[in-house]
Amino acid sequence: MLEKEPGAFEIYYKDLLGRIGKLKTKSGVIETPHMFPVINPLTQPIAPKIIKDEYKINAIMTNAYLLKKNFGSEVIAKGIHKFIDFDGIVATDSGAYQTLVYGEIEASPEEIAEFQESIKTDIAVILDVPTGYDEDKSKAEWTVKETLRRADLTLKILNEKDILWVGPIQGGIHLDLLSLCAKEMSKKPFSIYALGSPTKIMESYFFDKLVEMIMMVKMNIPLSKPLHLFGAGHPMIFALAVACGCDLFDSAAYAIFARKERYLTENGTLNINNLEYFPCSCRVCSSYNPKEFKALSKNEKEKLLAEHNLWICKEELNRVKQAILDGRLWELLEVKAKAHPMLMKAFRKLSKYKLFLEKHSPIIKRKGLFYFGDEGLSRPEIVRHKIRLEKNYVKPKNLTSLILFPTPNEKPFYLNQNVAKILAKNPQAHICFYLTPFGLIPIELSDVYPISQMEVVSPLDKEAIKESIIEVKKYLFRFRYNSVTLFLPENEIEELNELKKICREICKKKQVKFKLIKMKGFKLKEKI
Ligand SMILES: [Zn+2]
Repeated sequence: MLEKEPGAFEIYYKDLLGRIGKLKTKSGVIETPHMFPVINPLTQPIAPKIIKDEYKINAIMTNAYLLKKNFGSEVIAKGIHKFIDFDGIVATDSGAYQTLVYGEIEASPEEIAEFQESIKTDIAVILDVPTGYDEDKSKAEWTVKETLRRADLTLKILNEKDILWVGPIQGGIHLDLLSLCAKEMSKKPFSIYALGSPTKIMESYFFDKLVEMIMMVKMNIPLSKPLHLFGAGHPMIFALAVACGCDLFDSAAYAIFARKERYLTENGTLNINNLEYFPCSCRVCSSYNPKEFKALSKNEKEKLLAEHNLWICKEELNRVKQAILDGRLWELLEVKAKAHPMLMKAFRKLSKYKLFLEKHSPIIKRKGLFYFGDEGLSRPEIVRHKIRLEKNYVKPKNLTSLILFPTPNEKPFYLNQNVAKILAKNPQAHICFYLTPFGLIPIELSDVYPISQMEVVSPLDKEAIKESIIEVKKYLFRFRYNSVTLFLPENEIEELNELKKICREICKKKQVKFKLIKMKGFKLKEKI
């Protein structure tokens, strides 16, 4: 890895679209997913050196425009690393965000690019034009065109070969523009692509929109390149953004929230003044109780809160990384979705992209899976099982009698007494299990990963029951048996009556013998 050129990006572990990777720069290697704490060159609550030495965060981001405007030649003379006293990796933003907040800035794209080269930054962003959130379509269109024009302009004048340049993708909430911009930007030789201007959307908690924006970009850039999400510093969205394929983040949130006396947690933001207990044991939270903390001076509080906030960001990113290693990123998303209704809405939005997620998620994982409810029907393992059952599965030729049996609690399923009895009595029986999140499971697949390693909440939710019935229907149409026997648990579930009807009708149409055996719960009411 280390011999490779700056810009080389190697991926070691994946889960969903999240990945643990290594990105080479001229000043070292960044392990992704990574959040660059943003350093304000004018006022900074935590010294960059402390961020490296104590937090062990080796890459930060600062603002090229503010540096140029306020310190100009001094930064050029010292180089950015010396100037801010940080011997790790430094990324510089271009000041484009300032244009969004304060209007036009006093520098051209070429000047900002030249400045970034002359201060020897490691990662640089072109001066693009952020779309913003409220822009109408024609204005948004202009920001895309202008950003692409500036990208060409900047790439033409670059001299230094060892800086990683970031190509920002604009378009805001207009997904067609985002897609166009992502496609066009991908043709240009950037080391990193970035989704621009989602800050307002995140501040308003429109996380479902954010999912759509990230996915639109992700589906249109090369997967071999890292994707940066600008201004995403709240830990409550790290897991979701990583799952959608963001490798890098930058944020000043830890410092900005501290200024407003806001205390970050992995699930949301709290007002420090309302706290009687600290739900955290970082250095700050274990040194003070909230009462002592509130008695401190404003400056001291801001500094300490920024420290706590940054610890929380780091901790959450570690949690996300461990979940990627364990193949438990989906489970982490499920847990996090319960923290806020808008996160749940965003989590549900993933179902729109379930095929893309399935295509790029690993097949084998270290651990078993948990199924909590219908959101889980979109997870890659379940989607994959259904696709493969439909496209690749062929029923065993010698088995002519289909037994549809509700999925037992025992694992493997053939340990269930009734299942064992059926198999012993009827060598021609082919048992397929229904009432499972997987839809339908032919017995010969029942102890294959991940089917045998999934813990499912019972009773099964209605959506999963409905989908299971659809799978049974498709299966009955597709394969021919001499007879079909449906073992049906007797209960109040309306959908199961529907299943009975469907089986009967299809068998009639195909002129196949149909038999119904009622069960009380999972116990048989009659002898088989
Ligand atoms: Zn803390």
